[in-house]
Amino acid sequence: MYRCQCQFIPDDVLKRWACDPQLSEEICKNADYSARLTQHLRDIRLQTKRLAGFLLETHPLSTLTENPEVTLFDCKQTLSLPGSQVRDPATSADITVSRTYTETDHLATFLRQVFKRNSMDNAGMTLMSSVHYGRKYNNAMWNGLQMIYGDGDGELFIDFTTGTDVIGHELAHGLTQYTLQLDYDEEPGGLNESISDCFGSMFRQWRFQQDSASADWLIGKEILGRTSLSRGFTCLRDMSNPGGKHCLAAQPAHYEQLKRGMDPHYTSGPPNLAFSTACKQAGGNSWDTVGQVWFHVITSAGQRPRMSMAEFAARTRQAATELFGKESAVESGVNAGWQKVGL
Ligand SMILES: [Zn+2]
Repeated sequence: MYRCQCQFIPDDVLKRWACDPQLSEEICKNADYSARLTQHLRDIRLQTKRLAGFLLETHPLSTLTENPEVTLFDCKQTLSLPGSQVRDPATSADITVSRTYTETDHLATFLRQVFKRNSMDNAGMTLMSSVHYGRKYNNAMWNGLQMIYGDGDGELFIDFTTGTDVIGHELAHGLTQYTLQLDYDEEPGGLNESISDCFGSMFRQWRFQQDSASADWLIGKEILGRTSLSRGFTCLRDMSNPGGKHCLAAQPAHYEQLKRGMDPHYTSGPPNLAFSTACKQAGGNSWDTVGQVWFHVITSAGQRPRMSMAEFAARTRQAATELFGKESAVESGVNAGWQKVGL
């Protein structure tokens, strides 16, 4: 079994499609190709994580700029990274380019306004994205240095930049890289994936100005292709109902259901449910309430690559009390969230 990296689609989803006898050979071949290509990009990710850890340990990062630059590259369906730079992405006629630029820029604003954070490293790191990566590539990922988005094959998935939560999810992996430095296996891996879902979902809610009660808490709703939709799937994951049949990658909802060696895209189920439950119980906007608690823990605990879910839960309970007060709606929400998943 190979380990997860920071891609959006779990390996086994692509592998499952690749072996599906009811699908055309082209769809299957492409799913298999996407899964294998994704594995090869993993090594870069691990190396850049180590580099970021070294920099954090040895020298405090000095600030590059007060507002991070957003750069856009077009791979033109090749595998050449980063691709050719798009000079004026905001006004590009290519909807993928202009959308990715606009949403990434909004994400920088979201981090700055809501969390007082200057880019992922808090030192103005340039937000670099490559779109149209590969031919019909069925994934999106943070490779440790930049964002990479495939166009999807149109059957299983469509253009990955269509999902605001996909963009937020991947960039949040950068945030984790420059803060907790969580590993990608077992409980730290599940926390890593969950933090990306939490920030991806919060970013989508913030963009559409949805409070915790009106949000759908779905992940990957906008990127499913017609074959996925025709089989009754409506999302990749559901933070409020991790085991739902409408999820392409249904997850365990309770901590006790986690097993050793599980892909972090599945072990993220319990912390996802804890977060969405806490937000709904606290009321208001996720990014003003429980999101602040999560962000505080992520940015104040130092490098904790092997952090357990119990430790993360304990730290969020403590932070909720510190930031919002004992017996506040946020504190009781955070408690209720973790209790629901057995932590
Ligand atoms: Zn991820």
